[in-house]
Amino acid sequence: MALSNQFVRKLDDLWHTRTANIRSLVTRRRGRPREFSKESRENCIYELQKLATKILLRSGVRREFRKVILFSKMNRIGSLESREADRLLVWAKSLGKHPTIYSFWKGKKCLYVGKAANFVARLNHYIAAKSKYLSSGNTIKIFALKRPSQLGQAECLAIHLLNPIENKVKAAHQAWGKSCQICEFHDLIRDELQSLFRMK
Ligand SMILES: [Zn+2]
Repeated sequence: MALSNQFVRKLDDLWHTRTANIRSLVTRRRGRPREFSKESRENCIYELQKLATKILLRSGVRREFRKVILFSKMNRIGSLESREADRLLVWAKSLGKHPTIYSFWKGKKCLYVGKAANFVARLNHYIAAKSKYLSSGNTIKIFALKRPSQLGQAECLAIHLLNPIENKVKAAHQAWGKSCQICEFHDLIRDELQSLFRMK
């Protein structure tokens, strides 16, 4: 079934579950009507948000992400010996000073996405801290951005797109400039449904 149809059907389900009690007064259905609870409402909101993410990823969010990227580069992560660490730092310096979204990968799985106004300093920090992303990952991929004000939005979009194991999606509309389209949509779905299906 198309994702948009799944979305609409889920929304209809929510309405049907919410009104089951009223409908049971005038229809002769066997058994108790499905119970509507805060928990079932929140589960449904979560499912709708997940579907919305998939739909938005297919329709233009990738383009949004590409628009703010100046260039992307990747490098392998070797051992954390000082020579290897130096090699990574030399590479990072060679990229120039750009606001950067960075990601650690193990094979095809993204481990973590982060943002840095100064990527060399951030990488140095990961090396000094003997970060698990450097010891368990085998690739680092960066996206250089045009402007620092794009960091928040780009980080959030990258998290939606790359689906890292360790990040929780957090809305980018704090102090990081333009907000993320997907998070905006998530907020709208949650706010609308919580107010439509208000529970005590
Ligand atoms: Zn977002």
